[in-house]
Amino acid sequence: MPTVAVVGAQWGDEGKGKIIDLLAEKVDMVARFSGGSNAGHTVVNPQGEFKLHLVPSGVFHPGVTCVIGNGVVIDPAVLMGEIDGLKARGVAVDRFFVSDRAHLIMPYHLLLDGLEEESRGKGAIGTTRRGIGPAYMDKVGRIGIRAGDLLERDTFREGLSQAIEQKNRIITGLYKAEPVKLDEIYDQYCQYGERLAPFITSTDLMVAEALEQNKKVLLEGAQGTLLDIDFGTYPFVTSTTTMAGGACGGLGLGPLRFDGIAGVFKAYCTRVGSGPMPTELLDETGERIREHANERGATTGRPRRCGWFDGVVGRYSARVNGFSSFILTRLDILSIMPSIKVCTAYKLDGETVVDPPYSASALARCEPVYEELPGWNIDITTARKFDDLPEQARSYVKRLEELLGCPASVISVGERREQTVIVRELF
Ligand code: GDP
Repeated sequence: MPTVAVVGAQWGDEGKGKIIDLLAEKVDMVARFSGGSNAGHTVVNPQGEFKLHLVPSGVFHPGVTCVIGNGVVIDPAVLMGEIDGLKARGVAVDRFFVSDRAHLIMPYHLLLDGLEEESRGKGAIGTTRRGIGPAYMDKVGRIGIRAGDLLERDTFREGLSQAIEQKNRIITGLYKAEPVKLDEIYDQYCQYGERLAPFITSTDLMVAEALEQNKKVLLEGAQGTLLDIDFGTYPFVTSTTTMAGGACGGLGLGPLRFDGIAGVFKAYCTRVGSGPMPTELLDETGERIREHANERGATTGRPRRCGWFDGVVGRYSARVNGFSSFILTRLDILSIMPSIKVCTAYKLDGETVVDPPYSASALARCEPVYEELPGWNIDITTARKFDDLPEQARSYVKRLEELLGCPASVISVGERREQTVIVRELF
């Protein structure tokens, strides 16, 4: 299968970093198509532990070309910091490219992200304040600055001055804050441009050529389906499409090029920030999962909300993405549980529903209907084949296959590359 998209199937943090690092071994190109530096992937491999926000997790494999597509919004300071950090630890960043069409996060996006979130008071969305939302707003509002603009200084200055004029009216008029300065930002971003120039190119062409030559391409998603701007728990979502289909617009490839779509699910659910999460456990069990699994955000360090696997949003996620298989991570975490619950339906205002309601307020009223499965209570981190897993763990996976309507392809039983059970080869 030459072209496979790997996307988050829940609320992000499903462990995509490990999976992409693992699968990258088998591919020629890893191309990221959405999100920004609000996404944080943790990768543990023989070179150490790394936290990546922008550079695709394929960077650790010398023969792999890594691409940041036009659908990603880039904070150049974060990107350069990440490149320098990788180089300092001996990771070569030489087959790495950034789309000239990718929009940039500007200092006023960071400022406005904070000001807007504070003005929402109790209704705060829980953004990471990395400027992602405001940068996507400018993209759609047609006053964004793109990576390629840094290489054309006159165009850049003209676009920047128009954007700043508009932003300062909002910053000073609405929020009564200090205006941002054109010359300062211009000079700073011209310096970024000089450093990033060797990486900036038409990545859509690179992807097309790779596909033409039948190379193996992994399409890397960010965040998760329930955070998608259209199909997530709006408005508690991110500002971009996180779903597999986003790879088309976010990289410039046609939908007929996909050979497989794999959704990454954690064996339970977590969510960072506000918004409904029907299976959230506010009791000791939730706390136990959080502590045992060290569920804290890679980007913000915020404790994650934990709960049982939600088969209702899982099935929905499989439907809207069109998963051909799913990847299950952190199954080892559930080894501490005497029994495991899976949500198979919701009770909403007295009715049983099997598809999540469209509105966040209705989803917040949903009561999970659980099925209880036996736990296995033994260490599974050494399992390498499906049959190495205890019967109860296999039954759990099989039940999830039924609920999700697609087969498991990979099961992760620990953070290291080798702690993996490949059920079906993806590439
Ligand atoms: P991502 O954004 O989807 O990559 O997820 P995060 O990086 O925020 O969280 C995943 C965390 O889980 C990382 O610390 C990984 O090293 C770790 N991890 C991934 N898969 C497994 C697994 O199967 N078991 C355990 N115990 N940890 C895992």
